[in-house]
Amino acid sequence: MSNGRLARVTRQLWAPWRLEYIKQADEQPGCVFCDAAAGEDDETLVVHRGELAFVLLNRFPYSSGHLMVASYRHVGEFGGLTDEEALEVHRLAQGGIGALAQVYGPQGYNLGWNLGRIAGAGIVDHVHLHLVPRWAGDTNFMPVLADVKVLPEHLTETRRRVTEAWPGGVNES
Ligand SMILES: [Zn+2]
Repeated sequence: MSNGRLARVTRQLWAPWRLEYIKQADEQPGCVFCDAAAGEDDETLVVHRGELAFVLLNRFPYSSGHLMVASYRHVGEFGGLTDEEALEVHRLAQGGIGALAQVYGPQGYNLGWNLGRIAGAGIVDHVHLHLVPRWAGDTNFMPVLADVKVLPEHLTETRRRVTEAWPGGVNES
């Protein structure tokens, strides 16, 4: 592989982890996830609640429908999640994929954990799983510093649609 080709490949590697919350989290008191867990769903953009974990929209999304899944419990260490929490977070990610498939029909998904600020985590003390729908070419048309304004759909509308499309019904738990 030539250097030129390598450079192109490298550029296509996706790093949404650095996009969200990094500045904002520093400026906000408290914990976004704990606040969301305790708040009103339509204000905090929670789309689904499970028993031990819940799903919310990223306020600074990489693409429409960028979801995050977190335990209700304020856990800063990945290894600190219980088996039950770790399982439910991933089950909720499955539900999120089901809902996003219905609403947006994306061509793929990225799921990932950012652990530590160097890895791009904006909120380092409450671990969370990113679920990002992907489309061919989205790294090209989305600016590196994604801004809510470039997204075609308002977040509250996204929240409504994802919530309603959640497999098995609307916030049944
Ligand atoms: Zn928290």
